[in-house]
Amino acid sequence: MTDVRDRSGDPSSAPRPRKQEQEPASEEVTEVAPGVLRMQLPIWMPGLGHVNMYGLLDDRGLAVVDPGLPGPKSWKAIKTRLKSAGFKLRDIHSVIVTHSHPDHFGGAGRISREADAELITHLAFTVWSIKVRPSSLEEAEAAERDAARAASSFDVSSDEAVPTIRDPLREAPSQEQQRRSVPWGGETPWGGSRHPMPPLRRRVLIRALRLLFTPPNPTRRVPDGEHLMLAGRPWRAIHTPGHTLDHLCLYDEEHGLLLSGDHVLPTITPHIAGAGKGSDSLRSYLDTLDLVAALPGVRLGLPAHGHPFDDVPGRVESIKRHHAEREELLRDAAVALGPATVEALSHEIFPKRYWGVMAESETFAHLEHMVQLGDAERLEDDGPFRYAITDREVAP
Ligand SMILES: [Zn+2]
Ligand SMILES: [Zn+2]
Repeated sequence: MTDVRDRSGDPSSAPRPRKQEQEPASEEVTEVAPGVLRMQLPIWMPGLGHVNMYGLLDDRGLAVVDPGLPGPKSWKAIKTRLKSAGFKLRDIHSVIVTHSHPDHFGGAGRISREADAELITHLAFTVWSIKVRPSSLEEAEAAERDAARAASSFDVSSDEAVPTIRDPLREAPSQEQQRRSVPWGGETPWGGSRHPMPPLRRRVLIRALRLLFTPPNPTRRVPDGEHLMLAGRPWRAIHTPGHTLDHLCLYDEEHGLLLSGDHVLPTITPHIAGAGKGSDSLRSYLDTLDLVAALPGVRLGLPAHGHPFDDVPGRVESIKRHHAEREELLRDAAVALGPATVEALSHEIFPKRYWGVMAESETFAHLEHMVQLGDAERLEDDGPFRYAITDREVAP
């Protein structure tokens, strides 16, 4: 059997240079485009050092995008940054949350309450809450699933510690798909691979989360194509599922500015959520990458992590290349192994230190994509799914 891992070119010994998304939050507030401020907030998650809260200024005050993690430390940073920009909390009239990860919505509920601000998300924004004081195993598992959703951000691809067709994930992701897009806790959609949280970690998390979280309730959910008036001009809402089902980008046609959230990051490949059997979240992701790359006049990407970057189409190309290479590895591994589980295949394409639910979730997304393309077949017998490469006649 070929050891495809050798081809990944991943020298585990050499320390990697720090990526810009991993830089600690700077206190500096910078105007990155007309009427657009970049304010960095500290976050404490593997693989990331800060989240960018953007401030969009107009004559009513400002709107903020992605106000960081929940909790007092981030809250303090929000107030300090606003102050150095010359604003008070009450000046915020709108909060926009690009997607349902805690490093993006953490401060949103509190800002909305204390500043009486509108809280805007995509239509499919997933609201969940930790309601139970678990008394049964079932309740504990549900709480664990919620806690995991809250505690882990699935921002970063595991190896980083065509809108023309009908896309059900873009149009109407079901409750079931939303539930299944969570790769941690409970049973994974590909079956046979449970990743329960250790009991102590679970208890600590649930307690911490009860103290910290008030799940944000959007006051306004926008569909794809709607325009929002921000910084005194219209921005188009673009639904970009893949990283999460509810991901939203905003586009300012006048200045060619794309608020890209976690959809396009400058140097890190975003994690793709495996949304469930038969849902091709990788396809949704690749298609909506093409969609943002093709925006007429797109000039500057304003990502949620890392610095503003000027070649959005170029960055999209290299993310797509990364996925094409990963798919190639997966195909070779699947040919070498014969019908194999998600777990086994993930072990072939990821180095050992990345094994686990994140690597499996991404492998699953790739395999379901190959099934949709007719390149692989999903075998459902008892136990976890197995996948096999489809023999196709090669055209002469
Ligand atoms: Zn994210
Ligand atoms: Zn993020």
